[in-house]
This record gives sequence, C-alpha cells and structure tokens, in this order.
Amino acid sequence: MPDEANPFESLQEQIDDAAAYLDVPADVVNRLKHPERVLELTLSVELDDGTLETFRGFRSQFNGDRGPYKGGIRYHPNVSRDEVKALSGWMVYKCAVVDIPYGGGKGGIVIDPRGYSESELERVTRTFAKELRPFIGPDKDIPAPDVNTGQREMNWIKDTYEKLENTTAPGVITGKSPANGGSAGRVEATGRSVMLASREAFDYLDKDVTGATVAIQGYGNAGSVAAKLIEDLGANVVAVSDSSGAVFHPGGLDTRAVKEFKRETGSVSGYADAEEEFSNEELLTMDVDLLVPAALENAIDAELATQVEADVIVEAANGPITPDADDILTEKEVTVVPDILANAGGVTVSYFEWVQNRQRFAWTEERVNDELERIVVDAFDRLVEAYEEHDLPNFRTAAYVVAIQRVADAYRGAGSWP
Ligand code: GLU
Repeated sequence: MPDEANPFESLQEQIDDAAAYLDVPADVVNRLKHPERVLELTLSVELDDGTLETFRGFRSQFNGDRGPYKGGIRYHPNVSRDEVKALSGWMVYKCAVVDIPYGGGKGGIVIDPRGYSESELERVTRTFAKELRPFIGPDKDIPAPDVNTGQREMNWIKDTYEKLENTTAPGVITGKSPANGGSAGRVEATGRSVMLASREAFDYLDKDVTGATVAIQGYGNAGSVAAKLIEDLGANVVAVSDSSGAVFHPGGLDTRAVKEFKRETGSVSGYADAEEEFSNEELLTMDVDLLVPAALENAIDAELATQVEADVIVEAANGPITPDADDILTEKEVTVVPDILANAGGVTVSYFEWVQNRQRFAWTEERVNDELERIVVDAFDRLVEAYEEHDLPNFRTAAYVVAIQRVADAYRGAGSWP
C-alpha cells in the first residue's frame, strides 16, 4: 500500500483531536506528542553458521510523567523508528486510561523470527538486552511481550539483565513464564480485556451479546484468546483469520479447535470445519455485530472503512484503524472501542506481575482476573462519562480526553524543571 498511514502521524492526530476538547495549554499538548528519547541500536549477532548478521533495534521512551516507561518489544520485518515511536505513545495513553502508574515505551527489532533458529533468537535477544541494560530497570523502563515475542524472550531478557547487574530483579520485565516470576493470567490478559470491553460496549448499546455474530482478524495470542472468551459469553464467532486468510462458518466456529489447528499447521487456512475460506479484506467488511481487528496497524484504512458493515469494532491490535477511517466510521455510527482501552488488559496484568515481583508474593489467577475486570470496567465507565459529558464524537476521543488530562495533570503537578 503506497499511501499507508504513518502510525506516528496517526498518534499525533488522535492527540490533537482530543486536546481540542481539553483545557490543556497548546505547549503542553505539543510536549505530549513527541517521545522523550528514542534509542536506535545496531545488533551484531553470530548466526549458527558462524557468519555475522547485523540487526536494527529500537527502544522509544515516550513519556515518564506518570511512572516508569512501560511497553512491549516487537520482532517483525516491518518494525521502523516511526512505528516504535507511535506504539510507545499509545502505551502512555493506554496506561493513563486504565490509571496504572506507568509512562509509555516500546521497542522492536527488524527481524522475521521465522527465519532463525532458537539459539540464534536467544543471541539476538540477549544482545538487545545487553544494549538496553543501562536504560531499563524495575523503576526506569519495563519491557514486555508484543508481536512475535513471549515468555521465552522475556525470560532471556530478565536473565541477561540480572547476570550483568549481578542481582535478582524480576520486575525489570513482565510477561515472564510463571516459573521465572511471571503472573498467572498474563498470557490471556489482552484477550480478556478485549472480551470485557466488548461485553461493556454491548451492554451500553443495549445489544445482546448472546448470539451476536463476531469476526476476528488475526489469530495470535490476543485474537485467539479474545475469540475463545467472547465465544464463552455466548456469542457466535463466525469468522477468524491470520495472514494466510480467513475461515468462515455461519453456525459458528469452535474457536479452541481452530487454535489447536493453527498450532499444529501454522495457520487457520485449511481448517476442516469451516464452510468457506476468503481474504482478510472480506472478513473486515463482513456484516457482523462485532468485528475485532487483532493483527497489526492500518488494517482498516479509509477505503476499507467505507465498506465496513460491522456495528461494533473492538480493537485488540494497536492502531488498526487509520484516522481517516475513524472519521468515516464515526460518520457511519459504527461504535469503535479504542485499542488503548480494549487491549489494556495486557499491560494491566503486567502491572500486577510487577507488583507481585516487588512484593515477592504471587496472586491467584482468580485474583488477577477479578482485579483486571474491576480496572477495565471502571475505565470503560469513565470513558462513557467523558463521552457524554463533553458530547464527544466517538469513544476514541473520549479515551484520549481522559488519558491526556491525567498525563497533563501529572506533568503540571510535578512543577517545572530545570
Ligand atoms: N505489548 C502489549 C501492549 O501493547 C503489552 C505491554 C506491556 O505489558 O507492558 O499493550
């Protein structure tokens, strides 16, 4: 797509749209539109055959007014400086909208992990961790999983940091495996908040989630867990997709069986109990009650938005709808529950993990899920309050109104420096 939206410009536009409704001075808003610092790294790593490969890595620390920088690390061939900057900014407003005491950060490596062995990926990850070490820490900047990274990578980063620092510091990173200081419920947390946000939105709109038709674009961790939990609400997940394409069954798919099929074969395409297979674009324009984009940025651009027929969209991915598409969806009265609230379950349970690491005390999964539900429901209620009070055009603007106000209050409350 030659004219694909630049995610960093999208973020800045979203901030401006909301700031127009706030009494925050323009110079402070301007500060909140730019990262405090962006680290760009060259990682030289020896491959299994003895040759040296050079990778580009980034870490953007966008804003620390409300606490340490927080956000994931992504491994993807399309990672770029502007993408990481945007993702780090979205983390700032995500943490603010659910009111957890963090700023925002994000990192990434330009790599397609499918092309490398496990030991090569371990060396890439440990090299990245070594380079990041002076900039991260349980009170400074706390990375986490994102696209194509998970418990394995987080464990390596924790271990590298602790060895180099000659200490134990499980709170330097979240999303670890439970045996290495991870939290119960963290793997499912992003999908769980997508389910909770969908449930709250349907409730607000007086729509029945039981029997509602659902399409899910992307069947990685966020998409597949959201699919399962939304199916458990009694909804009918009729279509799911990944980069290989979409599978469809009008009577509803068995979301767990599709996940198992993808685990075995690498993709959802070819799943035997589907009635039809089609493209991702077709999935995104299906006439369903609920659409969940759970893949990457810019899935729905202006052209596609004109064809969207879903009533409600709940964003599991970060930045799946471009600002131009957003305007069209608002016009069409499609309710969009924004990423910074809907997928905030991941970072919220990361926060619980960090709290548990500091306390050296592990919570039960039930406690994790209960606390997560309370936080997501409170955040949704506060969003609706802002939406109605300021007569805002859509939920995204409402989420940013709440979040920007919180960051600006923290900035102003701190006084001026130097
Ligand atoms: N990568 C996730 C996100 O985009 C989680 C970040 C975290 O847990 O810090 O929200």
